Amino acid sequence: MRTAIYPGSFDPLTNGHLDVVQRAAKLFDRVVIAVAKNEGKNPTFTHAERLALVKQAVKHIPNVESDAFDSLLVEYVVSRKAQAIVRGLRAVSDFEFEFQLALMNRKLDENIETIFMMPKDTYTFLSSRIVKEIARLGDDSPIAYLSPDDRYVEKLATPDVTIADLIGDIDPIKAARGGHELSSELTVHYGLLPRANRRIFAVFYFLSGFGITAGYHRLFTHRSFQTYPLIRGIFAVLGSMAIQGSVPDWVADHRKHHAYADEEGDPHSPHAGHAGGPLRGFVHAHFGWLFADEKASRQRYVPDLLDDPVVMAVHRRFALIVVLSYFLAPVTAGLIATRRLRGGLSAFLWGGALRVFFVHHATWSVNSVCHLWGKRPFETRDESRNNPLVALVGLGEGNHHNHHAFPRSAKHGLQPWQFDPTWWLIWTMEQTGLAWDVQRVSSKEMERKRVAEPATPGARGDSSLI
Ligand SMILES: [Zn+2]
Ligand SMILES: [Zn+2]
Repeated sequence: MRTAIYPGSFDPLTNGHLDVVQRAAKLFDRVVIAVAKNEGKNPTFTHAERLALVKQAVKHIPNVESDAFDSLLVEYVVSRKAQAIVRGLRAVSDFEFEFQLALMNRKLDENIETIFMMPKDTYTFLSSRIVKEIARLGDDSPIAYLSPDDRYVEKLATPDVTIADLIGDIDPIKAARGGHELSSELTVHYGLLPRANRRIFAVFYFLSGFGITAGYHRLFTHRSFQTYPLIRGIFAVLGSMAIQGSVPDWVADHRKHHAYADEEGDPHSPHAGHAGGPLRGFVHAHFGWLFADEKASRQRYVPDLLDDPVVMAVHRRFALIVVLSYFLAPVTAGLIATRRLRGGLSAFLWGGALRVFFVHHATWSVNSVCHLWGKRPFETRDESRNNPLVALVGLGEGNHHNHHAFPRSAKHGLQPWQFDPTWWLIWTMEQTGLAWDVQRVSSKEMERKRVAEPATPGARGDSSLI
């Protein structure tokens, strides 16, 4: 007995499918329509509904039956003792993918042949997707003609793409493995792989963010801990990815900030070194200072780093690291996850452009917001503040007043409730032997510096003052 399997998701079955089945039924003793579960494609109809629709549509053809399958196609074909796989071709564009699939199945099992069949020319335009789109537009009259059963018109008329779908129901790993699964309507219409983009954004945000907070700031500027040259190099590269200048330039500016904190000479104080009121001060501290001509002297502020071969090797390759991490790396990650140019470009938008935008504003907020708004529990000669919101987006750097009070401490979140993931990273490195000489503040030192009484309004310590 010659048996053929006609596999597909049939979401829903159309007259085009039915036409192919009738043709195959003339060539084979038995044709099995195998309805794939295919949850990855996010079908409009449940598997049971699709199967019921197929069953009903073919009940008048004696040598055709329906079945469900959820395994590798060739395994299923063997289990049904079939010799051939039938696939319908509507257009030349279908052929490319079908051809690869057929060759792959032949590789998996030499004895199984793939037969391509063309439906009647009136059905060549017809696909399950078109049936769904027409129904969604509210015109249900063509349904009876297009689809063998109009019981599902009501279901078809409800849009099947929801916001939840758009913001992330596609698993990039599954998608990368599934290959063709990617041509689900979502990817075709919106060019987005939301979950993949979110992951790419997060990975690049944390890499470049910790590069700045743990690397540029706590390691290179303040020597809050020691680590191996290789890890110093990795931190220098990760920090460079944030596009905030190379290690010596960033560290020189920041050491100068601590030397003159909120006095004349501070490169980015909202209180000094600029003309104008509070708003001007905020803009100057946030990013206006970047346009100032005067740069902190490397010879004066970072002689140690100029002698550091690891730092200087990374410094010389700063431009290369920026190009790789801003553009090439996210695009490549997007291309691998989606196998589409559009996927690569949208990954660049998230992993490159938007990621750098957010990392920049998080870092700049430490200079602006954290010298304007927040609590000041310690005696310091500057206007620094602890700001929990900046701590949240800035991986702990928002505990900036603590930091000005104890600049060498590797831990900025000195209280248990102060969010400081950069400290958790350094602590983990210390526990695993990757960091040593980790600087801490004793509770005695903290008590000594604690503000004796709450600051009076109008005094320098008042957090409501701008
Ligand atoms: Zn500061
Ligand atoms: Zn600092």
